[in-house]
Amino acid sequence: MMARRTEACVFCEIVAGRARASFVHEDESVVAFMDIRPVNPGHLLVVPRQHLESLSELGEELGSRLFNVARDLQSAIRASGIRCEGINLFVADGEVAGQEVYHAHLHVVPRFAGDSFRVTADWPSPRPREELETVAAKVRNVAVVAGASDDGGGGRAPVTGLGLADDEVRIEPYDYSWPDHFAEICALIRPAAPDARIEHVGSTSIPGCSAKPLIDMSVALSPGTSLDTEAASACGLVFRAVNPEATLFAFYCPLGRRLANVHVRYRGSSSELWDLLFRDFMREHPKDVVAYGELKCQAVVAGDRTAYSRAKAPFIESISPRIHKWASESGWAPPADD
Ligand SMILES: [Zn+2]
Repeated sequence: MMARRTEACVFCEIVAGRARASFVHEDESVVAFMDIRPVNPGHLLVVPRQHLESLSELGEELGSRLFNVARDLQSAIRASGIRCEGINLFVADGEVAGQEVYHAHLHVVPRFAGDSFRVTADWPSPRPREELETVAAKVRNVAVVAGASDDGGGGRAPVTGLGLADDEVRIEPYDYSWPDHFAEICALIRPAAPDARIEHVGSTSIPGCSAKPLIDMSVALSPGTSLDTEAASACGLVFRAVNPEATLFAFYCPLGRRLANVHVRYRGSSSELWDLLFRDFMREHPKDVVAYGELKCQAVVAGDRTAYSRAKAPFIESISPRIHKWASESGWAPPADD
């Protein structure tokens, strides 16, 4: 296996001055030196001083620094008289990608016509848009929650599938990543209500249901307890409104997109039980799920936001007798505590 320990790391040895290298740049966080096996003359490596194995471990600042030093050095190579008709920047991250030294580094490779550098692939013909969108959604959905858990630092832009701006109404087809997002946000807000029953509710909790890409969460406190508001705001919860039975908070990602509505109420209250019962009924009744999804899509197409809210109420009213009948026949009960 490759060296994974600091003591055995050749780049750490170079950074510490215990191994030789031909340096072209040094600052407090990054160094650059010639690759000992250059693809072309001028091939150099930009390396963080700190021993970090992979791209994922580089923070925002160090990642930018690495790239910007590489950018300056490629200008220097072009101006130096070294043969250089083009430049490749190259990172090998992971063994299958060709990483040989497990200390993150960025290759700067001068290129010229007829040189020996190759990165080959069997390039396919352009793929259907639907396929590209499906793959893009997977990446976006992870990127959003990663941004949310980032301590507000750096202003990383979440490119998003999940989340809505405050004045936005948008319906999306059911996304299998929604339950995962619920679990992630649940873990982030748990410190504000350690003993609460936290459940995924609303349309995103119902498989197959088209929905606003916004996670509804029911946070049910034990009677006699209250939400620690300081802890809540430390977890990123923003107060929105008090309703008779529930207090609404929102959970935002750093750039202001709302990812979740957090309904805080008491355990066993009718608002909690209704949300759980509605979810469980819908999960057992796929035809109702389709009808409900279609109705929401039509309301959004119709345009205004009040039309959207107005459209949902009659539907829920019309099926609520069936929901209560189903509850008593099936002996429905809210989920047991862990
Ligand atoms: Zn190292």
